[in-house]
Amino acid sequence: MCYKIMLYTVYSCNHAFPEPPEGMRVDCGNPRCRVSTEHPSNCSGTYCVQNHFQYMTQPQSVPNRHLPYPCPHCHGS
Ligand SMILES: [Zn+2]
Ligand SMILES: [Zn+2]
Ligand SMILES: [Zn+2]
Repeated sequence: MCYKIMLYTVYSCNHAFPEPPEGMRVDCGNPRCRVSTEHPSNCSGTYCVQNHFQYMTQPQSVPNRHLPYPCPHCHGS
């Protein structure tokens, strides 16, 4: 099923921020998945509820890149 990947940028101060903040959506491409883009847009109602699933798994956190300097919050002060 579909899920989200949170790509984290990790700074030298050990603060980490997701980029992009809303995460990246990974589509499973399954027409039986109601949140997939492959799900027919005209599919709805009881049939859809009983035969198709709609849930996303937990977002996956991936430390995407490490930067050798502090984050903007720690930087200026
Ligand atoms: Zn899906
Ligand atoms: Zn459906
Ligand atoms: Zn910081």
